[in-house]
Amino acid sequence: MTTLTLPDFSKPAAKQWKAGVDDTVVCVGIRQETHDVKTFVFRSSEPRRFAYHPGQFLTLELQIEGETVNRCYTLSSTPTRPDAVSITVKRVPGGMVSNWLHDNLKVGDRVSVLGPAGEFSSFSLAPDAPKYLYLSAGSGITPLMSMSRAHVDISSNRDIVFIHSARTPADVIFARELQAFSKHQSGFRHAVICERPGADGDYAGYLGYLTAPMLQLIAADFKDREIFCCGPGPYMTAVKNVLQNLGFDMAHYHEESFSFETLTATPVAEPEVVAPAAGDGTGGFNISFTKTPLKVTCTPPKTILAAAKEAGMRFPSSCAQGMCGTCKTKMVSGEVEMKHGGGIRQREIDQGWILPCCSIPKTDVVLDR
Ligand SMILES: Cc1cc2nc3c(=O)[nH]c(=O)nc-3n(C[C@H](O)[C@H](O)[C@H](O)COP(=O)(O)OP(=O)(O)OC[C@H]3O[C@@H](n4cnc5c(N)ncnc54)[C@H](O)[C@@H]3O)c2cc1C
Repeated sequence: MTTLTLPDFSKPAAKQWKAGVDDTVVCVGIRQETHDVKTFVFRSSEPRRFAYHPGQFLTLELQIEGETVNRCYTLSSTPTRPDAVSITVKRVPGGMVSNWLHDNLKVGDRVSVLGPAGEFSSFSLAPDAPKYLYLSAGSGITPLMSMSRAHVDISSNRDIVFIHSARTPADVIFARELQAFSKHQSGFRHAVICERPGADGDYAGYLGYLTAPMLQLIAADFKDREIFCCGPGPYMTAVKNVLQNLGFDMAHYHEESFSFETLTATPVAEPEVVAPAAGDGTGGFNISFTKTPLKVTCTPPKTILAAAKEAGMRFPSSCAQGMCGTCKTKMVSGEVEMKHGGGIRQREIDQGWILPCCSIPKTDVVLDR
């Protein structure tokens, strides 16, 4: 097993970890959080400090069964403890990467990562808000936990109410840490809502889904709070309905979706006017794939990802804004206009990789997928 050099805490801060330069991290710890959730802790192979907004994510790039796959995972750790980062991963039934991480990643393994990226952070979006309401469900707890850990570590003494929803008490991730925060940190309160009591015959907490009366009971002053919400799509839709029906000013509501199928149809940047090169004769271009017998027509300013998804192709993607790298694909031939947001390295672009979510074809394109 690799033994990494310890940081020298007596010296001024160690160098910063830089994505693109230090692009691998080493797994230094694994914790089982619940029956289907594990936390993986990483350090840089040389002592390096990680800088990020609580709530940002890393994109892991893994080789699984001969394929390169990318997935985003929020840093559940806090930047106030900068020498290591952690991600907390829930198994998704039938999911490729979450199950691979649970079953294969070992302490000492190196992982290629990109980031940190993402906009979802109360520290950057509403740093001056005096009161927060953090709402999460399932693995959506990770960004809110990172934000809470940061507040606790710097004793910000902000007024935070954290409401987490889970299937059963056994599914509550970070249950003990949340209890400790509520007990010891002034201004921090948390509540858990479980769909059902599960095997816990003594469970006496909130049952069901978050409802308007429940919200009013737990945080009567919710209208004075800046709200940050993360969880499965149906959960966030239900939360928004509750808030809108209660007259909450949605300008103070922020959310992040982990949903696999999230796709912003809007192109990232104003596309350049492109002259049809080959295409379908109507200004559209043919997009074809080496491993999928599907031909897609993509008419600028539509992105290749949007066109492929509209044609019914299952195409892994997350942010749809060129930031996370989940959809990264090798372009076998063709030319695209790509305006990315940091989700791809220059050397990858030089090798012919593109992010279809922010690429608009300038010619017919063949992708290795
Ligand atoms: C910004 C961001 C942050 C995230 N943070 C976290 C986090 O902190 N923790 C966390 O656990 N997750 C997080 N996620 C989710 C994570 O990125 C993955 O999407 C998740 O782990 C599932 O990936 P997977 O490879 O296991 O599943 P996938 O292989 O992507 O499969 C997803 C689902 O699709 C189904 N499926 C697979 N193949 C097919 C097919 N051919 N046809 C139809 N259906 C199919 C699977 O059965 C499964 O239900 C985050 C996502 C984003 C975008």
